[in-house]
Amino acid sequence: MKQTPYYFYDLDLLNETLNCLKSNIKGTNFKVHYAVKANNNTEILQLIANEGLGADCVSGGEIRWALEAGFHSSEIVFAGVGKTDEEITYALENNVGMIHCESLQEILVINELAGELNTFANIALRLNPNVNPLTHEKISTGLKENKFGLTSLEFEELIGIYPTLSNLRIVGMHFHVGSQIQDMSVYVDLCDRINELAPVFTTCIGPLEYLNVGGGLGIDYFEPEENPIPDFDGYFEAFKTCLELDPSVPVHFELGRSIVAQCGSLHTKVLYIKRSEEKNFAVLDAGMTELLRPALYNAYHKMERLDGLETGEEFLYDIVGPICESSDCFGKDILLPELKRGDIITIRSCGAYAESMSLNYNGREKVPSILHSTLNLVEKG
Ligand SMILES: *Cc1c(COP(=O)(O)O)cnc(C)c1O
Repeated sequence: MKQTPYYFYDLDLLNETLNCLKSNIKGTNFKVHYAVKANNNTEILQLIANEGLGADCVSGGEIRWALEAGFHSSEIVFAGVGKTDEEITYALENNVGMIHCESLQEILVINELAGELNTFANIALRLNPNVNPLTHEKISTGLKENKFGLTSLEFEELIGIYPTLSNLRIVGMHFHVGSQIQDMSVYVDLCDRINELAPVFTTCIGPLEYLNVGGGLGIDYFEPEENPIPDFDGYFEAFKTCLELDPSVPVHFELGRSIVAQCGSLHTKVLYIKRSEEKNFAVLDAGMTELLRPALYNAYHKMERLDGLETGEEFLYDIVGPICESSDCFGKDILLPELKRGDIITIRSCGAYAESMSLNYNGREKVPSILHSTLNLVEKG
């Protein structure tokens, strides 16, 4: 039997997802950047780079991974609320296409570092649209109270200083309202805000040459078989119909979860069944170190027994990992066919924010990934 746990990636589904995405943006001036933080598995990055997407990176390390995987530097955007001087220098030296800026101080530092390198930076301002993403509070980013984006106070100040910044040019605006968004009215609200802010940008800064609307399209964690491909049609349609910009302005997107989440699952073995008066526990050999989302956000992931045999009775289990934390629990009172030691459980929708969030905590080694496609079978240690 295979060593468990391991991540299993269905590359056929990933290809199908990318084809659906690409058919939606064909013939438009939309450009999609893959959010590397969702999954930085080398083969997955290479596959996505080969499909012609750009990359959205949030650290110098991610920029390096993206370049190594074959993304073109001009199609890399660099975001993040706390970029270090070293990361900014690295981005400038490698000519990344755009830097998304979130504070006045950061903009001054970029101007100075670009001056030292005798170069010129193209930047976009991350603005906080104050749009409610109607999602989990820990993954909402576009509300006034969140740490992200340039504040209006600093925006005012920037307008005064901008003419003195000789090593950068502000070419556009960037937004990102949150993650796991399934209600398309959120994107309609975002478009309305953008339509209001675009003339302000033009008046205060200059011509709008770049718009980045972020990512955050959600997926169906409850029915991954029924809905393996997210609602790209509804998502892009919202922007096609609601944005009222000069059609020559390119619109950039940064999608992570919606591209990779459903193609991955985590396969793990039942180590022990423990019974109590109240309930049964199934103790797995994978834990929060391999899939952090339930512990971090109370996230739900569908779980199934892998053998697929029909069984009559089902039982309630608390499905827990081996890590010394009470939050190391994948679900409480989960109805599953009878489990016994050695059974394999597949935890679905683990292609995004699982492997990339894995931890060494409790002395855990990084687990392998298996990439499956009908064309070839790749195993990586
Ligand atoms: C995380 C993040 C994304 C990707 O979010 P998804 O929900 O995975 O699509 C895009 N843009 C920014 C700025 C982010 O922080």
